Formats: sequence, structure tokens, C-alpha cells
Amino acid sequence: MRFRSTLAGIPSYVPGRPPAVRPGVESFKSSSNENPYAPLPHIVEAAERAVRTMNRYPDMAVTALHSALADRLGVAVSQVASGTGSVGLLQQFVQAMCDQGDEVIHAWRSFEAYPIVAAVNGARSVPVPLRADASHNLDAMAAAVNPRTRLVLVCQPNNPTGVAARGEELSAFLDRIPEDVLVVLDEAYVEFVTDPAVPDGLDILRTRPNVAVLRTFSKAYGLAGLRIGYAIAPDEVAAALRTCAVPFGVGTVAQAAALAALEVEDELRARVARIVEARTRVTATLRSQGWAVPDSQANFVWLALGAQSQDFAAHCEVEGLTVRPYGTDGVRVTVGDERADERFLALAAEWRSTHT
Ligand SMILES: *Cc1c(COP(=O)(O)O)cnc(C)c1O
Repeated sequence: MRFRSTLAGIPSYVPGRPPAVRPGVESFKSSSNENPYAPLPHIVEAAERAVRTMNRYPDMAVTALHSALADRLGVAVSQVASGTGSVGLLQQFVQAMCDQGDEVIHAWRSFEAYPIVAAVNGARSVPVPLRADASHNLDAMAAAVNPRTRLVLVCQPNNPTGVAARGEELSAFLDRIPEDVLVVLDEAYVEFVTDPAVPDGLDILRTRPNVAVLRTFSKAYGLAGLRIGYAIAPDEVAAALRTCAVPFGVGTVAQAAALAALEVEDELRARVARIVEARTRVTATLRSQGWAVPDSQANFVWLALGAQSQDFAAHCEVEGLTVRPYGTDGVRVTVGDERADERFLALAAEWRSTHT
């Protein structure tokens, strides 16, 4: 069999591990930034109704959901595209914008899907190291733009460090990006943002012709298992995203559940507020233990453990808590499940007292 010559070089996505099962130890998964709350009954009922029509293909145009999103967000339906999770849309962005060898600039460490979707679709990924404070180095990203650049992905707030760029800095960066290069603001965690200095990507999109916003139902809305995300983009970009979509990719159940989630948004927002409270509490406690923790605008916190990252994660795992180590950079820990957070804080305190 002859495979694409570049296939072997494509990194594989490492998912957050499921919790290890150990007799006598209750285990928690704090490694995938999932919403800890079970889906609301209204959403489950809508999904169950949709299940009964599974002999039919889904609405390929995702009509009802796109129109609900457009109304809610104050954009035109022609600006909306959806996909199998926002990762599905990331693929569509690369497919829509990049010829073979064109460049996709993104921060690193950042969302691990970025280099993968670039490579899978024949583009070249250009990672730009984060600053020492775990924020995007937007100056260096703007400086990396060249005639091969088609896409710049800004993870806002950044996964895995939680840091978000503020309005002025972002706007100075966008001023430097040529109009024929598309900037995608990946706002997978936008619902968790509380810093008023962090702009809403949709406000930026309204004033700039080369900005798109990527969002998901996986995190705040708690639908990670159904695979549905959406993009808001300039008309011609949204149309190109729809051209690159897998036909019927977004299933009937996902469409129905997402629509139902928008209908109970207030309740979901109250849950998000509780997760944000957990983030505040976990961050404060870690700092009181002596950890340097960046201000996270998402549903996770970042410990820059460096060379100790894998050891810390392995230690947590033994104690029934799965967290997410990244090479020798650090460890990301999802927050919001009260008992998991307690376990994490206890392990973090113990680690400080035995490793510093
Ligand atoms: C979780 C996450 C996504 C969302 O992925 P889905 O495919 O929608 O589940 C997108 N971007 C970032 C940065 C994420 O962390």
C-alpha cells in the first residue's frame, strides 16, 4: 500500500486519559476540560426525541440551529457554519484557506489539534513559543506572517495555560495582519471569561474583514460527546467552510441537543458561574500554597512544572486523579468538580511540601 509520504510525520492527538481504576480509591478525570455536570433534562429529552428519527439523514444545512445562533449572536445566518466539534471546523478552515505547503501560524504550547489539522490537510504548521508568562507572543506571531501564511490561529483563552489576550494588545496585533490572511479566534472557553479587558471575538469580527470566531458546545454547554461546534465568519469564509464540511457531518441528535441547550442557556450559565467560582478558589488556594499560577479565563488551571510535569501527573494518577501533563512544560488541571478539586489541592499541597 502506498500512503501519503507525509502521513508518518503527523503527530497523533493525545486525549486526556480516563481515570485509572484502583480498588478503594474513587477516581476523577480532570484531564479533558469537560463539564462536570450531567446534561439538563430538557437537553436529554430533545436528544431522545431526535434519536427516534435516526433512520433519516440529518438536516444537512443545520437550518434551525444556524438560525437560532444567528438570532442570539446578532449575526447573519450566512455568517454561520457548524462542524463536528470545533476541531471539525478547524479542519474546514485549513481546507478552505490553505494550498499544499501554505502556513498556519499558532502559539505553542497551545491546543494540540492545531499542528495536527494543519499537517493532515497538507499545510505547514508554524508554532510560535508562548511568552514566559504563558500568554501568546502576538508580536512574534505577527512577525511570522509571510506570503505563504493563510491562517493565524489565536487560542483565546489559551489551552492549556488559560491566559487570554486583552483588547488593546489583540487589536494592535490585528492591525499588523494583512487583510488576506484570516485570523481565527478560537473561543472554545469564551463562556468562562470574566476579565472585562478580554474582548468578545464577535465584537472584533464586526469591525474587521479578516477575523473569524470559533466556538463549541463541548465545554460550557456540556455536549462534548455529541461533537458540535460552530464558526462565525465573514460571509465568503463561512460559505467556504460549508463547502469543506463533511456532508451530513453534524448529526440529528447533536443538532437537537445544541438547539435545546440554547433554550436553557440561563441554567447552563449558572453552572458556568459555579465552575468559574471553583477556578477562583483553586487558583487562590494554589497561590497560597506557593505555586505561581497564571490567571486562567477558562475551566482549567496551569502549573508550569517543567521537568517535573510527568512525575506530578503520574503521582496524581496513583492517587485517583487524572490530570494532563504536556511534555516538560507543565500540567493542566480541569476544575469545577468539587471533590476532584479538593483532591487536586491536597495533592498540590503535598507536592509543594516534598519537592521544593
Ligand atoms: C476543547 C477545545 C476545542 C473544542 O473542541 P470540540 O471539537 O468542539 O470538542 C476547541 N479549541 C480548543 C482550544 C479547545 O480546548
